[in-house]
Formats: sequence, C-alpha cells, structure tokens
Amino acid sequence: MIDLHMHTTFSDGELIPAELIRRAKVAGYKAMAITDHADTSNMGLILENVRRLTDAYSHFFDMEVLAGVELTHVPPALMAEFATLAREAGAQIVVVHGETIVEPVAQGTNLAAIEAGVDVLAHPGLITEVEVKLAAERGVALEITTRRGHSYCNGHVAALAKRFGARLIIDNDAHAPGDLIGEELRRRVAYGAGLTPDDYRQAGANAWEIVQRCRCIR
Ligand SMILES: [Zn+2]
Ligand SMILES: [Zn+2]
Repeated sequence: MIDLHMHTTFSDGELIPAELIRRAKVAGYKAMAITDHADTSNMGLILENVRRLTDAYSHFFDMEVLAGVELTHVPPALMAEFATLAREAGAQIVVVHGETIVEPVAQGTNLAAIEAGVDVLAHPGLITEVEVKLAAERGVALEITTRRGHSYCNGHVAALAKRFGARLIIDNDAHAPGDLIGEELRRRVAYGAGLTPDDYRQAGANAWEIVQRCRCIR
C-alpha cells in the first residue's frame, strides 16, 4: 500500500512526522508522502522542517517517505505560481486540494491544478470530462479517497478516469492514526468506486511510479 496524501501537526494532522511514518509502516504501507495543507505563508516552514527529518534519517524509516505539500484553497489564478514556489522550497511532490463537494473550494481549482502539472489532484469532486482528458494528457494523477465526505464523488472520478485514460491513485488523506486503514477496507472502497481488481493493482502501480519519479528530486 502507498499513500501520497497525509497530514501532520504541520497543518491539521494529529501526529508529528516521525509518528505518522512509524504508524504507516506498522499499518503495512511501503511508501508515503507527507503533504500538509499549504499556501505561501507556510510552505517554506513545512518543507524545511519535514525535509530536515526525511533527508537526514530516511534510511531509519525502512520505507519511502516523500516530503511535499497539499496546496489548499489557493486562488486558481495563482496555482501555477504557487506550485513553482513549492518546488523551489523543496517539495518532492505537489498535491492540490481539489473541488471536493463538502468544502467551498473555488471553482476552477481542478483545472488550474491540471494545467499547472502538479503530481496529484486530490478529491476532485465533480470533475468535468474536459478536465479528466487534460489530466490524462498531462499525467496528473486523480485521487480516489477513503476519507469520509471527500469520498462521495469517488464513483464519478473513477468512471471518467477509466473512460478517458487518466491515472488513478488511492489515498487516505490521513489526519489521525485511525485514518491509516488496512488493505481490506482500502480494496473495498476502491471496488465501491467501480474499480476492478486490475484497476486496483494499476492504481498501486501508478502511485509507485510517482514515488520513483519524485524521490529523485533533491
Ligand atoms: Zn486537512
Ligand atoms: Zn488533504
């Protein structure tokens, strides 16, 4: 299992990075990304501090840990600029907080994230066909989430992604220890969204490909 969308005390998560990493390892995850909610006010703070841990001590964790951000409630017109600033600040992976139907995310956020070429568009809600096609072209991964509320649109996201060949990944969007669900429930959430066993395996391969690509970023 791989989870590329997780939160720590650097935003609204409950655990410090070391504890989140340890708990993910014990829960059976083989790779993960720490992606705290960020805008330009805090991205430097998050990345400098998370990377101080992940760069120097990564070999002790016995799992791949990427340091990144989840650009959250960033005005769409500023998305590309903020994504660039995040990379310059040391983000190995850039996730965008997509247009979930349970939060007042600005319309245009999904499209701006895809056009900015971020790594993952999280919980994209009622994403449009045009956006999904563009995500497929740009190689932006779309997220199936096990998180309550955000998960309401999983079926819609999965159906369009399969129709237009966009890459899917499965994340927990973990904020607390209980969010690190096991393989069985994770698989059932995926099947509930309409993924087949092959799609489920492919989602794992997609996540692993992102880990391979992003861990080379220093
Ligand atoms: Zn959060
Ligand atoms: Zn999140």
